[in-house]
Amino acid sequence: MKIELQEIAIREVAKNYINNEEEWVVWFDWKLNIRPKYQREFVYKDSQRNSVIETIKKNFPLNVMYRVKNTDWTFEVLDWQQRTISICEYINWNFSLTNNENQVQYFHNLQENEKNQILDYKLMIYICEWNDKEKLDWFKTINIAWEKLTEQELRNAIYTWPWLTDAKRHFSKTSCPAYNLASDYMTGSPIRQDYLQTAISWISNDNIEEYMARNQWSENANELWQYFQNVINWIKITFPNYRKEMKWVNFWKLYNEFKNTYFDSSKLEEEIKKLMQDEDVTKKSWIYEYILTRNEKYLSIRAFSPNQKRESYEKQNWICIHCKNYFELNEMEADHITPWHEWWKTTIDNCQMLCKNCNRVKSGK
Ligand SMILES: [Zn+2]
Repeated sequence: MKIELQEIAIREVAKNYINNEEEWVVWFDWKLNIRPKYQREFVYKDSQRNSVIETIKKNFPLNVMYRVKNTDWTFEVLDWQQRTISICEYINWNFSLTNNENQVQYFHNLQENEKNQILDYKLMIYICEWNDKEKLDWFKTINIAWEKLTEQELRNAIYTWPWLTDAKRHFSKTSCPAYNLASDYMTGSPIRQDYLQTAISWISNDNIEEYMARNQWSENANELWQYFQNVINWIKITFPNYRKEMKWVNFWKLYNEFKNTYFDSSKLEEEIKKLMQDEDVTKKSWIYEYILTRNEKYLSIRAFSPNQKRESYEKQNWICIHCKNYFELNEMEADHITPWHEWWKTTIDNCQMLCKNCNRVKSGK
C-alpha cells in the first residue's frame, strides 16, 4: 500500500466542479468523483460549512484529507466529503457568507485579491493507492476519531455503485419501499442503514461484505429487493395475525428452511395463541421458531423448581424411577414424565427424578 502527501491549490480542486445532487459530484478537472451516497445521508450544517470557508479566508490550516487513487485516472474522496463540497459550492457562488458588517457576500462579491487568496489556498491531501480491504480498514480505524458511522454505513463507503444506488432507493430512506412494506417486522432505522444491512445479511447468510463486493458493479439490486419481499410476504401469509414479538424473530432462517413447506396458518395461530398464554414459555418471540422447527430449545421452558425436585425425590423414596438405585438428590435430575410438547406442563404431577445416567439415556443425549 502506497501513500503520498500532495499540496493541491483550491483552484485545481474546484476546476470543472459539477454537482448533480442526487447521483454524483465531480471536480478536480473531472478526475475526482464522489457521491453523496458515499458517506452519511444527512447534510452538513450551515455553521460547519461557513466555518470551513472562514478558515480558508483566514489562511488557517485545515486538516489533512485522504483520497484513494483508482486504477483508472480518477480519485475518490475518503473523508472530508462535506468540507470539499462546501469549498466548491462557495466558489461556484452557490452560497454566501455574512461579513462583519452584516453584508451578504458571495464569492463573486469579493475583491480580486481576496478571490485569489482563496483559490491559491493549498489543501494537504494524502493520495492513497489502496484496495477495498485497505480502505475498509482505514475507515474503521479513523472512524473512532470521527462521528461514529454504523457498520453498514462503513460498508456503503467502500462498496459503492451502481448497485448501491439502486439498493438505497429501496432500503435507505425514511419512507422507502422496504420501510412501508416491512417496518412491523424490522428493528432499527432505514436512514442509519439498518434495513439495508438486515436485507443483505438475509440474502447472504450474514456474509454481507462478500455479497456487496460481488454485486457492487451490478446495474441494480433487484435480486436483493425481490428476496426481501419474498421473505416478508411469506411471513404475512404464514403468520397473518401480527404480534409485536415478531420484530425479534429470525424469520429469514425460517423462510430459507420452510418456504416450500405447506402450513395451515389458522392451526399455527391456534397453537401460538395457546403458547403465548403459557407461563412455562418464558421467551415469547421464540414461539415462532418453535412452531415451525418443533425444537423445544426455542421455548426456553421454565425448569422445575428446587422445591418441586425435593418433593418428587421424597415421594419416590430416594430411588431413580428407571434403574431403581438409590441416589442423593444432587446426583439426580428432574424430568418431564409426559414430554413437555405433549402436555405443556412443568408442574409437580409431571415431575420425576432420574439419575444423571438414566436421564441422559432417556433424552437421547
Ligand atoms: Zn437411574
